[in-house]
Amino acid sequence: MSASSALDDFTFYDPFDGMRFGPEQCFLCGTPTTPADFVPVFANWLMSRYNLHSRQIKLLDLSIVTYQDLRIPCCPRCRTKHVEPLETQVEAAAGKGVEALRSLDDKTLYLWLGKMFYGVLVKELLNELEPLAVPQYPLAENARMLRRFQAFFQCFQALRVPVEFEDFTPASIFVLEVDATQDDMPFEYDDDLSTLAFSIKLDNAVITACLVDNGIIQQAMRRVYQDANRPLHPVQVAEFKARVYYAAYILNVVPDYFPRSRKPGATHIEMDTLIDDITGDIFNPWENAAYGQSLLEMWKRWNIPLAEIMQDPEQPLSFLYEADGEPRQLTRYPEENQGNKK
Ligand SMILES: [Zn+2]
Repeated sequence: MSASSALDDFTFYDPFDGMRFGPEQCFLCGTPTTPADFVPVFANWLMSRYNLHSRQIKLLDLSIVTYQDLRIPCCPRCRTKHVEPLETQVEAAAGKGVEALRSLDDKTLYLWLGKMFYGVLVKELLNELEPLAVPQYPLAENARMLRRFQAFFQCFQALRVPVEFEDFTPASIFVLEVDATQDDMPFEYDDDLSTLAFSIKLDNAVITACLVDNGIIQQAMRRVYQDANRPLHPVQVAEFKARVYYAAYILNVVPDYFPRSRKPGATHIEMDTLIDDITGDIFNPWENAAYGQSLLEMWKRWNIPLAEIMQDPEQPLSFLYEADGEPRQLTRYPEENQGNKK
């Protein structure tokens, strides 16, 4: 049986209480761990499949780690009971492709993305706590950001605690399909930790998400997501991601979560949520100039200059839509031999 200090299955754990992110305790339940108790942030099946073990990632303090260096402490119970079954489920779906990934329920995808997001976040937070570190963008010093991480973690506990979300999904999650004939990047991952935006590409499936918005961005981007339900050129996928990341950036609310007390004999805990939008708007105003920066970043691979992106300051460059608002068909980029179609 588990150690006496272990939480029971229905008790929430809060590592932000005391900022307990170190290697001494399980990331999910807080049980004391030994150095041998860990799970990789990017699961072994992912690292093997995409050859990631020694590939490098640059962290916010500009230090370099490899994918295999990214690991979080995890007790044997949480590893075998919660983390590994989740990975097995997603691995099976990923092996079958986009449709199988889409058919996973939102909670499964949310927990899977959440585990990677949180693993990277913890690495960054621990780096910041090192006495010699000089982070470019300190995450731990911003109270609002910490509140957001904490809110995220409350829902993310659903990986261990049997939680049912009452009429909401904690996150916005989009699964896009890349046109395989225009694609040469089997794996890609990026994130914006401060806004909890996270994106990962598995062959021709791109999963992109904001992990703490209660589906608000998904709601706001309903039409764009519908229109993007077709094989897209990678430059179009990048634009879609820029929209999600920018929306996460201007999101102005942090949901509150309230686990209800468990009824006698109940096998799960119901989670309620409330968004206090009385004090302001749900989104800060959309500013095209700032959105243009987000496009510039996402389109880095294609070297599209800002001047071209912002040629019409009222309507930044789009590959998803024509100027008249119709979905744009793009078979290749740059569009050689097609004249200057716009
Ligand atoms: Zn544990």
